Amino acid sequence: MGYGMRRKEAIDRLEESGHLEREEWVRLLADYDETDRLYAAEKARAIADRHFGNRIYIRGLIEFTSYCRNDCYYCGLRRSNKKAARFRLTEETILACCETGYKLGFRTFVLQGGEDAGFSDERLCALIGGIRERWPDCALTLSVGEREADAYRRFYEAGADRYLLRHETADTVHYGKLHPPAMSLENRIACLDTLKAIGYQTGCGFMVGSPGQTPETLAADMMLIERLHPHMVGIGPFLPHKDTPFGGECAGSDTLTLFLLSLVRIMEKNVLLPATTALGTIRPDGREAGILAGANVVMPNLSPAGVREKYALYDHKKCTGAEAAEGIAGLRERMKRLGYEIVSGRGDWKECQ
Ligand code: SAH
Repeated sequence: MGYGMRRKEAIDRLEESGHLEREEWVRLLADYDETDRLYAAEKARAIADRHFGNRIYIRGLIEFTSYCRNDCYYCGLRRSNKKAARFRLTEETILACCETGYKLGFRTFVLQGGEDAGFSDERLCALIGGIRERWPDCALTLSVGEREADAYRRFYEAGADRYLLRHETADTVHYGKLHPPAMSLENRIACLDTLKAIGYQTGCGFMVGSPGQTPETLAADMMLIERLHPHMVGIGPFLPHKDTPFGGECAGSDTLTLFLLSLVRIMEKNVLLPATTALGTIRPDGREAGILAGANVVMPNLSPAGVREKYALYDHKKCTGAEAAEGIAGLRERMKRLGYEIVSGRGDWKECQ
């Protein structure tokens, strides 16, 4: 059997069994070609269509604080970045964002921010409770990094339904190259296990092309996803931010990102998979390309226009047009051109039929 056939055969087997051995992952990711990528995309799209039809779910992303106690080497919000513009939205402003989003048809709000002690567990619980009370028909997703299990439990009881916590890389040595010693992969994964056990629809994920990433570390990412079996997976290209230690590094590859999206769809079938902002930033048709590679979720920005620039995870981050909640009509039109329809609904994870 030729190499090309062997890779196609591996992709077929991933579809049938949801599993590949480590060496198979490494081989597939080390020397795939454009034919393999398109083969995987076609399969991934067919699987997404089978589970979601032509429906695309939307989430309104509210970036509510740019303060962060962490010092991740890739992120523009890192503590050591003295040039970062810091902001913290008030409860009133956050509720106003939800109000705007609700009118635009959003039924999921995502509260994302740095690890900000200014939002204590109590303060977050009160905020979650307030949103839950005013919009009982909406899903609420948190993405506020690592907290104690007890805090995760209280947020859940206050009304949060979902939690996004990208693992960033599932390889311990690679994790150490992306984060200061105070952070550990072990704790990250413990958080993910806890979140899932509490009952959250839980999302992990990683950047593609982060410095030091190899086919071996990507194999570890895919194996972690298989093991964790999350409800959501966030994957986007790494993009440098000039005021970070990785400011001079190259951006990740858009096509490798698309290939990985497809492989996650083929492995996890019914997983909620966004075409991310980073993908929309690295190429103008990123959202479309993501959908065609198997994604089924988009997360336009619902933050107040005045703070969007300040939530600078990486340089040139898109926050207008189809990336903005108020640009939803344009996004709807773009999706329609591909044959997809943006639906207004919570878009919860559902068991495989
Ligand atoms: N503090 C929260 C939210 C982090 S921002 C948490 O720890 O989960 C959300 C995601 O943006 C991160 O998980 C990371 O994967 C991504 N991100 C950060 N910096 C980035 C960069 N330079 N390029 C691409 N993605 C980045």
